[in-house]
Amino acid sequence: MSKIRDASHLAAELKRIDSKGYKAYKDIAGIYRVDDFTLFVDYVQGDPFASPSKLRLRLEAGRAQFPEELFENPDRKVALEDYILRAFDAALDRVAKGNRGSGKSGMLAVDRPGQQVLERTAVVVDPDYVEVRLSAGLPARGRRVLGLQAQKMLLKEIPAAGRSALYCGALDSDRMRDFVLSVENAAKLRRQLSSMGAVAFVADGSILPRESGVSERPMSRDAAVPFGAPPTLKKEVSLANGGRASGMIIPEGVTLIVGGGYHGKSTLLEALDRGIYNHIPGDGRELVVTCPTAVKIRAEDGRQVTGVDIRPFIRDLPNRTDTGNFTTPSASGSTSQAANIMEALEMGADALLVDEDTSATNFMVRDMRMQLLVAADKEPITPFIDRVKQLYRQRGVSAVLVVGGSGDYFDVADNVIMMDHYRPRDVTSEAAEIAERFPTGRAGESQGGMPRRNRRHPDRDSIDARRKGRIRVKTRGLFTIQFGTETVDLSGVEQLVDYSQTRAIADALVYIRRYFPDMCIYDGLDRLDQELDEKGLDVLSPFRGHPGDYARPRAIEVAAALNRLRSLRLQKTEYMRTGGG
Ligand code: ADP
Ligand code: MG
Repeated sequence: MSKIRDASHLAAELKRIDSKGYKAYKDIAGIYRVDDFTLFVDYVQGDPFASPSKLRLRLEAGRAQFPEELFENPDRKVALEDYILRAFDAALDRVAKGNRGSGKSGMLAVDRPGQQVLERTAVVVDPDYVEVRLSAGLPARGRRVLGLQAQKMLLKEIPAAGRSALYCGALDSDRMRDFVLSVENAAKLRRQLSSMGAVAFVADGSILPRESGVSERPMSRDAAVPFGAPPTLKKEVSLANGGRASGMIIPEGVTLIVGGGYHGKSTLLEALDRGIYNHIPGDGRELVVTCPTAVKIRAEDGRQVTGVDIRPFIRDLPNRTDTGNFTTPSASGSTSQAANIMEALEMGADALLVDEDTSATNFMVRDMRMQLLVAADKEPITPFIDRVKQLYRQRGVSAVLVVGGSGDYFDVADNVIMMDHYRPRDVTSEAAEIAERFPTGRAGESQGGMPRRNRRHPDRDSIDARRKGRIRVKTRGLFTIQFGTETVDLSGVEQLVDYSQTRAIADALVYIRRYFPDMCIYDGLDRLDQELDEKGLDVLSPFRGHPGDYARPRAIEVAAALNRLRSLRLQKTEYMRTGGG
């Protein structure tokens, strides 16, 4: 631990190096006392165009004065940190001048959160202090140090933002409390779902539609039809922090969402796939909660698949491909969807969310006429319709399916919800009646039960991020990881919501190598979760000061990235063929 210097020392250093070559900035790495704060200059960039410098601003708890009850459990702590981060971000917008020279000069930024409240590394609330982690573009003209501008950034702007966000007294205490309690309500409700026999809860009054197809922000309240539960599926729940909420329960089992085109089916399903996360007050989905291990399943042709047992869905491919150990650099629509399901089961998913819009038609159903034309022994696919009930009966895995096009599914549904002008109706008994009066005539095609989870053990050397001898991991946006010489495409992993999750996943792929091949993928990622619980996301960071820009992904999404790594090889797979469970 280096010694803490006075702010005047930093000011003098910056004056001394003014207009020197940019490398002179390296001299300011260190720890400084600035007003009430401690400023850590952890990493200094080598060039105004290089990735920015990393700083931390810390205030001791005795001065910050956040009431302990607002971070007394992990749900509250995550929420409070998120609230402070948003406040600090807004303060930076007000006080930071921004661009002041070449390259990233003048830039001051924290990791900006979206509609979800995620565990992050950008703010730490500790019993002893509160800390925010920033990126800064140390200013330069050309490649010459702009010392006085740097003084303004480090000694004026950053502390000013700190004054409006790191002291409890500077924040709106009612709003802060509401924020924290609202997040905790959702988190606790989500954990109660299984004891309620439900896979999801959608509160009355929720706003599900978003402002556009590329935005997570809510549609305006004037335009949106608020959610209202149908009487038969309505339930009142009591919330952790007092009060009650009424809304629609989606019971365990097989649930269909039907309805005419454009009546809000996919919008409901998307809200459910986001229901694994907590949302900020005002989002509209504050009390839309889904089973924490729910996985959105889609067709994803072209994806890599490595050693997955997809026999429950696909057998006897024409070229004698072994579908018990299915490997391909480019899966088809149906084989990719089958692999996505089997990988979700391997990771312990308790609910699958499927939208016909993004499914392979031949994977979903084969109707009577097609069965008559193409005999079962010429069709490798066992359609989902013939497995979905078994999945629940034998494995306890529920499914919520959007099917506007195939009434054959009525035969296997426990509940049928019809979206009608954005309003849900319970049409379970009507659908059952129709199913009784008009048999589909199709023959069930499933052979054997669902196998147990496969346990695949990756080969450590096949997870290699080195390029020219050095570990190189980068991300681009939400869905692309550059991993050594490979590009991992996550565009089919729809429940990723935040760039910072992608960054965490990228570094997690390097970190989890140590668990393999001793552990299987599930155990390795379970272990990762335990380590992240104990030590925080910081452990994923390989170098360069603090990682201020991670958000926590689920183990399921980390596994999804691993599964899409084209170099992945397996050392062994334990197939557990028999029985249910
Ligand atoms: P479907 O899947 O049934 O074809 P979508 O869910 O895609 O329909 O919704 C169609 C359109 O209606 C989308 O533009 C969506 O934003 C909008 N929409 C969905 N739900 C609502 C709602 N509750 N209020 C207003 N507009 C909605
Ligand atoms: Mg749709």
